[in-house]
Amino acid sequence: MPSEPFIFNNESATLCGACGGECCRTRPGIEAPGRFLAAPDPAGHLRDLLASGLWVLDTHYGVPYDPAKGERGDPDLIIRYPRPATRPEQESGGISALPGAGECVFLRADGCALPFADRPRACQALEPTAGFDCSSSWTRFDAARAWLPHQDTVAAALTRLSRPPL
Ligand code: SF4
Ligand code: SF4
Repeated sequence: MPSEPFIFNNESATLCGACGGECCRTRPGIEAPGRFLAAPDPAGHLRDLLASGLWVLDTHYGVPYDPAKGERGDPDLIIRYPRPATRPEQESGGISALPGAGECVFLRADGCALPFADRPRACQALEPTAGFDCSSSWTRFDAARAWLPHQDTVAAALTRLSRPPL
């Protein structure tokens, strides 16, 4: 079974409460492949989340690369990865990210509706900082690297989403 690194719960009620969830009000965090790869049917699990209207696919243009390792980029490659929808995205009824900022569908008046363990990897990795200069140990570049080998799962989910129900 694929494993994700253990994430320490670094929520800060003091800092995040004072901030009011700026991160959640602008762009929901990207999820890592592990949740899907651990499911008996990874593409089916992704399809189900997209069909719920609560999740969308976001797009990363170009392959992140490290020149120090002799890697080369590919600016033409498109990598798609899932994240919770914003409210405008949910209202649109689509499964693709829309441009611009928007509030996450899981944000409630008292914070995130999801238990910490169920939140996307990028949400778990945010490190609240005084002054709201928050950083993350798992960025969208990390998400692109993680999802690059699993684009076939994304494609299979999209194919099955477009089929009429049996
Ligand atoms: S992680 Fe940072 S931006 Fe997000 S709610 Fe906490 S303090 Fe605000
Ligand atoms: S899933 Fe939760 S923590 Fe992540 S952006 Fe949405 S409300 Fe915020």
